[in-house]
Amino acid sequence: MTEIDSVGIIGAGQMGNGIAHVAALAGLAVVMIDVQAEALSRALTTMSKNMDRQVQKGSISAADREAALGRVTTATDNAALSGCDIVIEAATEREEIKLAILRGLVPHLKPDAIIASNTSSIPITRLAAVTDRPEKVIGMHFMNPVPVMKLVEVIRGIATDDATFEATQALATRLGKTTAVAEDYPAFIVNRILVPMINEAVYTLAEGVGSVTAIDTAMKLGTNQPMGPLELADFIGLDTCLAIMRVLHEGMGDSKYRPCPLLVKYVEAGWLGRKTKRGFYDYTQDPPRPTR
Ligand code: NAD
Repeated sequence: MTEIDSVGIIGAGQMGNGIAHVAALAGLAVVMIDVQAEALSRALTTMSKNMDRQVQKGSISAADREAALGRVTTATDNAALSGCDIVIEAATEREEIKLAILRGLVPHLKPDAIIASNTSSIPITRLAAVTDRPEKVIGMHFMNPVPVMKLVEVIRGIATDDATFEATQALATRLGKTTAVAEDYPAFIVNRILVPMINEAVYTLAEGVGSVTAIDTAMKLGTNQPMGPLELADFIGLDTCLAIMRVLHEGMGDSKYRPCPLLVKYVEAGWLGRKTKRGFYDYTQDPPRPTR
């Protein structure tokens, strides 16, 4: 089985920095890449603050924090990934972006390096097909926030070999996660169920059945969820939610997955949720206030 000691991460957004966080704490060397240098410095600051919180809670020591942060290097060029045993792609959820990343990545990799994608919805088989090693491509779908959430969905593409599957499962375990294996169908398990529920919550809002507060309160207290669906949508990112609905709609060819036009409108306005400080809630207020 491929021994994994070093991890490359492409995309230093909310997921990329979370994956870097758990990998560095697990003792792996981490190389994080982004097209935007500011995303890399933001990710390092976030990681450092999140680890500070863990030190204050006593879940890691100050020495663990220092050692973990010392294992992370950043770059804006794929060449920095040439020594990695596995590269986890965690860039923006748009197929053309991911395909371009994978095409540009393969010339830099070791011949036996694994390529994992953290995609929420795009078929792994389709991503694998543009690489020189479809047998070494796999889905490794972390949940947000990565340091807190225990699950990793593992998705085999049609060509993924057993060695890659086993190495990926072992890596997830080393990162302290539990895996659930999903078939390579649009949006896999978690998002196939979760995101249509969020989309339905947006329809419920758009049709005036309930206000933002009513919908989130109803689902929190009525179904015992820690966050209401609109609050959760802001947390995930409305662009990511919309991208997942579009993949489901196209991939399943079923009109029941059509994205709510109000969700489309929010994304077109650039109201993407927490990351842009405005979505179904306004995050410049404390506590955040519903925007409708
Ligand atoms: P994000 O918008 O926070 O970050 C994406 C990052 O990718 C940005 O920093 C961007 O600069 C970078 N990027 C874009 N093009 C790039 C390129 N060509 N090369 C390198 N970097 C590039 O997004 P996110 O929420 O971190 O999502 C990333 C991936 O993780 C997506 O595939 C998403 O579906 C998946 N995911 C998201 C969640 C969630 O709750 N947000 C959960 C699980 C999986």
